[in-house]
Amino acid sequence: MSWEVVVGLEIHAQLVTRTKAFCRCPNQYGAAPNTLVCPTCLGMPGALPVLNEEVVSQATKLALALGATVHPHSKFDRKNYFYPDLPKGYQISQYDEPFSTGGFVEFELGGETKRIRVTRAHIEEDAGKSQHLADGTTVVDMNRCGVPLVEIVSEPELRSPAEAGAYVRTVRDWLRAINVCDGNMEQGSLRCDANISVRRAGELDFNERREVKNLNSISNLEQVIVAESEWQIKRYEAGETVKRMTLLWDEGAEIAREMRRKEGSDDYRYFPEPDLPELTLDAQYIEGVRASMWLTPRELKAELMAVHGWNREQVQYLFSSAGHVPYVRELVQDFGADPKSVASFYATVASGIMNERGWSPAEFSQQVPAASFAKVISYQLDRTISFTGASAVIKEIADTGAEPDAIISARGLRQISDRGVLRQIVEQVLEQNPDAVLKHKPGEDKLVKFLVGRVIQATNKSANPAVATELVRELLDSRKAN
Ligand SMILES: [Zn+2]
Repeated sequence: MSWEVVVGLEIHAQLVTRTKAFCRCPNQYGAAPNTLVCPTCLGMPGALPVLNEEVVSQATKLALALGATVHPHSKFDRKNYFYPDLPKGYQISQYDEPFSTGGFVEFELGGETKRIRVTRAHIEEDAGKSQHLADGTTVVDMNRCGVPLVEIVSEPELRSPAEAGAYVRTVRDWLRAINVCDGNMEQGSLRCDANISVRRAGELDFNERREVKNLNSISNLEQVIVAESEWQIKRYEAGETVKRMTLLWDEGAEIAREMRRKEGSDDYRYFPEPDLPELTLDAQYIEGVRASMWLTPRELKAELMAVHGWNREQVQYLFSSAGHVPYVRELVQDFGADPKSVASFYATVASGIMNERGWSPAEFSQQVPAASFAKVISYQLDRTISFTGASAVIKEIADTGAEPDAIISARGLRQISDRGVLRQIVEQVLEQNPDAVLKHKPGEDKLVKFLVGRVIQATNKSANPAVATELVRELLDSRKAN
């Protein structure tokens, strides 16, 4: 009889706020150890936490992206446990009144659309980081203490390693699209815990699960699910039982090791955080955040594909890094650039420049202002310049920061699209190539192409090829008719 894998995921996503969740220390990765700390995030007696508004707006964006209910009232709790990198002895989290509940994540896998329900998404703070050195000593970096997180808890609805991987990828894309998390799993800004159990196909009840903590790559997650489910199936088939347990994935050994017996919520002795007031949000606040989002990632994907004709790869590129969406939004919304042209220029030319120079979208937008980018796109659309010309202009803006008009003039990129001017040139070319005119048969394109080539040559490459082609056809046909 076959077995079914049952997986629920808890994704911890670090928010990209300027400061930490409850103090004014910078929220920044990679600083010298223990330099971004203060009495509040270290939990010194008498220090009081104050909630950072950016955390609330980003958590709201995420809840809206998930289609979740943002609760008008939520509260903070202390989750008590002792760990060397948690100097306070507790973590500020949300327990029985979380920030948001419900919503879902949707992705395509094997030609099917899967929908996984989300139980809740709540706000909490990160702990510090222990580092185990080769000589056996352990050092602790407290810079991460108090960095804001949202924890996104899924229902146990994932049924294979591939589904779990696709789910995490989608959540990461969405977080980047709304610009609240950089999704960098190597740096730990996105991590997940997997609750894994197995049951015989067709069974409705769940068996005991084992939780694997702190997975920091999608391939690790997929490996863990394979190894863990095989291990559990073997136990059941040998007539043994599986006990609830917390495990850590040992990447080198490719095995999950026991960390501790799974605590129930009793063990954490949750109690309301006495130093923070209840969090109250009115509908107006939530609507304000919604208005700042353009569209949710789900809506954005649907609109770009169905209305504007973007393809899957172009949408995928847009979601691949935080910061792409805000720039594209500026292009389309603020500067009225044609969305379809934006797709081709952004996913090819802009991405090429960013890759080549190792620029983030923020660095790109600083060097190539959206206003200039939009102008170049409109010049290509109205045939002032060719696609190749437009690409060259964008590259030169990235190099020099010059204005599009100045670059177009200096490089002589302006196309001749004026029919009157081009008509004269076409007439000349036809005079010079009487054989071609004689041999041309209406409806055939071979000689049309040849003659258009001559027109482009005669204008030193500045003839607009589309207009030139139209004119060559027209004039050839009229000569045949005479
Ligand atoms: Zn601090």
